[in-house]
Amino acid sequence: KTSLDIASIRKDFPVLNRKVNGKPLVYLDNAATSQTPQQVIDVIVEYYHRYNANIHRGVHTLSQEATDAYEAARGKIQKHFNIAKPYEVILTSGTTHSINLVANGFSSFIKEGDEILVSAMEHHSNIVPWQMLCERTGGILKVIPMNQNGELIMEEYHKLLSEKTKLVFCNHVSNALGTINPIEEIIDAAHNVGAAVLIDGAQAAAHIKPDLQALDVDFYTVSAHKMCGPTGVGILYGKEELLKKLPPYQGGGEMIAEVTFEKTTYADLPHKFEAGTPNICGGIAFGAALDYMNSLGFENIAEYEDELMSYATRQLLTVEGLKIYGTAKNKTSVISFNIEGTHPYDIGSILDKLGIAVRTGHHCAQPIMDFYQIPGTVRASFSFYNTKKEVDVLVEGVKRARNMLL
Ligand code: PMP
Repeated sequence: KTSLDIASIRKDFPVLNRKVNGKPLVYLDNAATSQTPQQVIDVIVEYYHRYNANIHRGVHTLSQEATDAYEAARGKIQKHFNIAKPYEVILTSGTTHSINLVANGFSSFIKEGDEILVSAMEHHSNIVPWQMLCERTGGILKVIPMNQNGELIMEEYHKLLSEKTKLVFCNHVSNALGTINPIEEIIDAAHNVGAAVLIDGAQAAAHIKPDLQALDVDFYTVSAHKMCGPTGVGILYGKEELLKKLPPYQGGGEMIAEVTFEKTTYADLPHKFEAGTPNICGGIAFGAALDYMNSLGFENIAEYEDELMSYATRQLLTVEGLKIYGTAKNKTSVISFNIEGTHPYDIGSILDKLGIAVRTGHHCAQPIMDFYQIPGTVRASFSFYNTKKEVDVLVEGVKRARNMLL
């Protein structure tokens, strides 16, 4: 039994009172974007009501208040992920931006024939930037394979590593399958051959509170909108010595020390990577989202979501012809499935008519779909504000959809 008071938590999320197509909303697309609690909405409203101003360069009160709040949020992020220094937190527009920043910077270091390893279960945002990097540099992209359960084949990973490996990229949790990858082992083994590691934490951070210093990871990325924060803001964590070596990604205001037409020198970290006016309100709200989730406790969240997932897995498997993709021992509350003889899009559309929000398609992870030789899946992803009753509504909806389609 969970120690969380789910009924009272649900009251924090105004959107959960909505009706969709005349039915109470059952929101099960949390892996794409989580909903926003009133506590975070209040922070956003307060910012625009009281102290909307540009940061870091203003002498006036509003600018100073906004700067203080933005930097306080950076401090909350630092503490939450146990990052050694505040300037190792680069505020970005989200995971995609963070990954491109690193991939772009590594163009200076990758030489022809150097190898970059990516896992077979990456989001497109963690494949395409590396392909672009390889095109620019002559680097070679190699893939860590996975098995039918949706787990990485670690023996193959160890075989792929060599002194040619310069970088390893892997998600902490797969968005399409929910698999929690053994990132400790991945990081340690890569370091043994002198390779740097970037872990994409976009899916993990809503369920797991990673200790980035203990992991000894080189880079880690997060998107706030998957953990009760707003869209358009996230972080790149990087170790100080690596961030210092990486060239800047974008040029502009904020990121310079001195500019003349002959030469420009760059600002210190983190500003070197924070060109232009950032998502100030978003950064502040990200801090508030972390406060909110920490007030519930990540262990409580994970325990309750596991309970929901086990229940949903058992119930869904009672539907005739239903197959679940991603049956790893270690997984978060994501269930990807298909029903024999139906198309995921049709199931998703019928569920929407019943007020149930799920995602259908390839989930920006086409190689996984190719691996299973399917066009896509229906994905239900659960958050701590979902209930067993909602799982029952989903299962009834899926049965109804199946009967309508077959
Ligand atoms: N990686 C993973 C594993 C994801 O789930 C997502 C979002 N679906 C991303 C990267 C990209 O995140 P964003 O769109 O916030 O940049």
